[in-house]
Amino acid sequence: MRTVKLKNGRTVPALGMGTWNIGDSGARRADEIASLQAGIEAGMTVVDTAEMYGNGRSETLVGEAIADLRDDVYLVSKVTPSNASYEGVQKHCRASLKRLGTDRLDLYLLHWRSGVPLSETVRGMEQLQVDGLIEDWGVSNFDVDDMDELDGISDGCVANQVLYNLEHRGVEFDLLGEDREREVVTMAYSPLGQGGELLTNPAMREVAKRHETSAGPASAAQIALAWVLRQENILAIPKAGSIKHLRENALATEIELSQDDLKTLDAAFPPPKRKMSLAMI
Ligand code: NDP
Repeated sequence: MRTVKLKNGRTVPALGMGTWNIGDSGARRADEIASLQAGIEAGMTVVDTAEMYGNGRSETLVGEAIADLRDDVYLVSKVTPSNASYEGVQKHCRASLKRLGTDRLDLYLLHWRSGVPLSETVRGMEQLQVDGLIEDWGVSNFDVDDMDELDGISDGCVANQVLYNLEHRGVEFDLLGEDREREVVTMAYSPLGQGGELLTNPAMREVAKRHETSAGPASAAQIALAWVLRQENILAIPKAGSIKHLRENALATEIELSQDDLKTLDAAFPPPKRKMSLAMI
């Protein structure tokens, strides 16, 4: 498994798992838990959740899935911006830990910019570190100007989680390079384009036909992930609700895209030629 290196020297796998919409359906619960556990076993040990997902239901399900695996997991959760005051961060982190059934997070992110002064949120994050409740903190949906503002407050941020897939390449113009220079890992969310049209695009199918994995012909989903993972300093967190999807995603790390593949994909999904405002879901 390829890895990315955090500012503090810790390395984590470049392919992890998302959990948005997980835990919302009783009928899918067992599959979702099995999928997360299979992913951890396959080395996709970064698990991303948020207090906002299903009003805590995602965290509760993750807690159940990792109950016997906590030490194998790099656990990430996020505070909702309206809760990101100094006191709010203390209270909401503890509530997340309770739902997750653990005493610490590896990484705690501010979900997106809030009305609370950034310096106050950062102070809250740093207090959580001092108290041993989180190892590191980071941000999400921060564009270049937000990262510049953060520079003036602290250099403690280790990750910036943003929308990045073939359909949303705006961050290639500036943010990806700037994150790298700051030694801030970019976490790519929705790397599969939420399982939508990206996976049926003819260019994706064409490139998939050129590749094999150890389990057989490559899929468009595997190409989408291999494309995001082609660069250093990027950690992708696809969400899979079934073991079938999970196993398929895990094998994406076997695929090396060629220059011809990249040209085919660039023609269908052109790279940005100018600054674009950060896309968000
Ligand atoms: P993804 O791009 O990960 O796509 C998930 C969808 O793709 C699901 O419908 C899933 O279906 C489907 N899928 C998964 N694997 C395959 C496969 N091999 N073949 C075909 N379809 C597949 O979208 P998300 O929006 O979930 O993003 C991933 C994670 O990023 C989130 O779960 C969340 O943790 C994080 N995120 C963070 C945001 C932020 O603001 N910080 C915003 C959005 C997401 P199925 O469930 O049936 O497997």
